[in-house]
Amino acid sequence: MSRFDTIVVVDWSGGNDTGPRPRKDAIWAAVVRDGAAEAPVYLRNRVLAEAWLAELFEGEIRAGRRVMAGFDFPFGYPAGFARALTGQTDPLALWAWFAAHLEDTPKANNRFALAGQINACFPGVGPFWFNGTGTDIPDLPRKGTARGDHGLPERRRVETRAKGSFACWQMGGSGAVGGQVMTGISTLNRLKSRFSDALTVWPFEPLGTPIALVEVWPSLLADQVRDEASDSEVRDATQVRVLARALWQMQINGTLDDALDAGTEGAEEGWILGVGAEAALIEAAESPALRNDCFALPPGVNWTPVDTALAHLRDRLHPVTQSQVTAVSNACGRILAADQIARRSNPPAANSAVDGYGFAHDSLPPRATKVPLHPGRAAAGAAFGGTLPPGKALRILTGAILPDGVDTVVLEEDVRLENQTLFLPGTIKSGANTRRAGEDVSAGDIALRAGRRLTPADLALLSAIGIAEVPVRTCLRVGVLSTGDELAHPGETTDPARTFDANRPMLLSLLGRLGHAPVDLGHVGDDRAALRQHLDDAVSQVDAILTSGGASAGDEDHVSALLEETGTLNLWRIAVKPGRPLALGQWQSKPIFGLPGNPVAALVCALIFARPALERLAGGDWADPQEFIVPAAFEKRKKPGRREYLRARMTVDGRAEVFPSEGSGRISGLSWADGLVELEDGARHVRPGDPVRYVPFASFGL
Ligand code: AMP
Ligand code: MG
Repeated sequence: MSRFDTIVVVDWSGGNDTGPRPRKDAIWAAVVRDGAAEAPVYLRNRVLAEAWLAELFEGEIRAGRRVMAGFDFPFGYPAGFARALTGQTDPLALWAWFAAHLEDTPKANNRFALAGQINACFPGVGPFWFNGTGTDIPDLPRKGTARGDHGLPERRRVETRAKGSFACWQMGGSGAVGGQVMTGISTLNRLKSRFSDALTVWPFEPLGTPIALVEVWPSLLADQVRDEASDSEVRDATQVRVLARALWQMQINGTLDDALDAGTEGAEEGWILGVGAEAALIEAAESPALRNDCFALPPGVNWTPVDTALAHLRDRLHPVTQSQVTAVSNACGRILAADQIARRSNPPAANSAVDGYGFAHDSLPPRATKVPLHPGRAAAGAAFGGTLPPGKALRILTGAILPDGVDTVVLEEDVRLENQTLFLPGTIKSGANTRRAGEDVSAGDIALRAGRRLTPADLALLSAIGIAEVPVRTCLRVGVLSTGDELAHPGETTDPARTFDANRPMLLSLLGRLGHAPVDLGHVGDDRAALRQHLDDAVSQVDAILTSGGASAGDEDHVSALLEETGTLNLWRIAVKPGRPLALGQWQSKPIFGLPGNPVAALVCALIFARPALERLAGGDWADPQEFIVPAAFEKRKKPGRREYLRARMTVDGRAEVFPSEGSGRISGLSWADGLVELEDGARHVRPGDPVRYVPFASFGL
């Protein structure tokens, strides 16, 4: 199965460079990296586009990633042409032929003359036609109807299946692709030589290399592009963006491989990716962010173990956020959207680790006790310009680049200076008190990986290696909705039958701590119509929703009832205490996590299940919370069959004590605790001093 980390779609152009202002009919490229779509890139000419592609491919190969790059021009000509022109049926021989014969610069190329020359080799008139120049070109007719008897098919097989596509014989005029093919395959041929074994061309060569080039045709998604068109975006940009995202989604939907397999029909002429798989491509373009069945658990399991439930969330969820560029100084707490490669080494040059005196170790006699001081000094940011003569020492300060002639530094406190002579301590090791260039990070190393939530230390690292701006994920917007007729605003009533809404402030603040953008969706009673209206109003403002209450299968459990109507409900009966069924589903393709109403169960379920799931949706790494094995300060027996989380805190002597009552109504116990003790699924009799797993709230990001 092919699996690509990055998908790029390029809208090629055979036209000339008309300037730096983004415009239509130039080259546009859209990248989707790990599911995150980047803003389309405007490439004003083919030279720039080639360099941009080479840089993209190189970076991805270095990071050990696989790329599928799609181009919107035919990769081959109708059957018979390659053999007639090159003597070989291999379409890649044609690529090499055009790369050798086409003269192409940003302002001009010889494509019309070349078309005429090729026509001259064929009987009759044609196959190429259309002359975009003022002067007549021998053998190149201005009209397609003037052609005849050249002996080649008008179209490739795939073009007879792609309604509205243009034949590659037409060298100009609106919609023509003739010039794009010649310039395009020449460019791709150079990239092919440059990346040799790391690059293959579909469908002519087997996939499996880091870079795969494929032919695409955005018009297959004409309707979807029209739906997304806006005045603020050039149409070509919309096209590549929509297609790149759809191809990514096909991969998620599991339909990309079938689409690639359809290419076997184009072994000589090439094939358009998506022809033969049109429905799957359209489905992907219109696809909800997540698969409908993403929360479906295997049938027949009554109580799902916690680890099974977590593994399921990890495998079925994928990022739904986009990528945006931000200043490193603003990036703390944000999720990196792409691997960050060191632009330069840290330190960039060998330097001194201390304030002291530097010299060339081997230029001093063995066991030297003194050395004459050379005038001048080296300081951080103020290099010593010259070369230090052998047998001399130089004043050097912390962070100063080691001048030529210095490889060792003695600490200021270890020497005595008298009349410009330095008296040395006993033995000094060669290289002492110096830092090697790149000893921390080497240029070209991956310093931080996509998916990481940036810490203050990460900002220091990024800055040190020359990175001032980073692509980060947009924040995941998560709505919080409380349900239940009994709920009231805290302090609003003295009626003991009413319950104050404790979950909403807890969950909203939790989301903020986790680095998401919380959205308060308020409270709704046990009324299905009102709940439906609430969810309908919410979907445009959020990427995911946490509800609390009404998630079981009872009469007043309207969250599960509504999700059942959409056909996406999955009631997860997880073998966990405290916990009630979790109602997982989607509302207009936005994932909903229906948490129990009880605040203790709601918080535990939010921490254990919703936290990693949301992090995955946000584009972050899946990471288990850090836990510590510590001695218990309590005794407890538990039966097998479910995992238990106890409200716990650390004693001053490093043991875990638990809240005296396990009652699930005891909110004060949550507040008392500074973490949870996790007791495994099997039976257990914990005695004081026995090792138990303690997970501090800080491990959950609180
Ligand atoms: P439910 O899951 O709707 O059956 O609710 C279980 C228990 O949690 C009931 O006692 C509810 O009153 C209570 N509950 C539900 N939502 C909240 C909330 N937002 N704040 C405090 N308690 C709640
Ligand atoms: Mg309720």
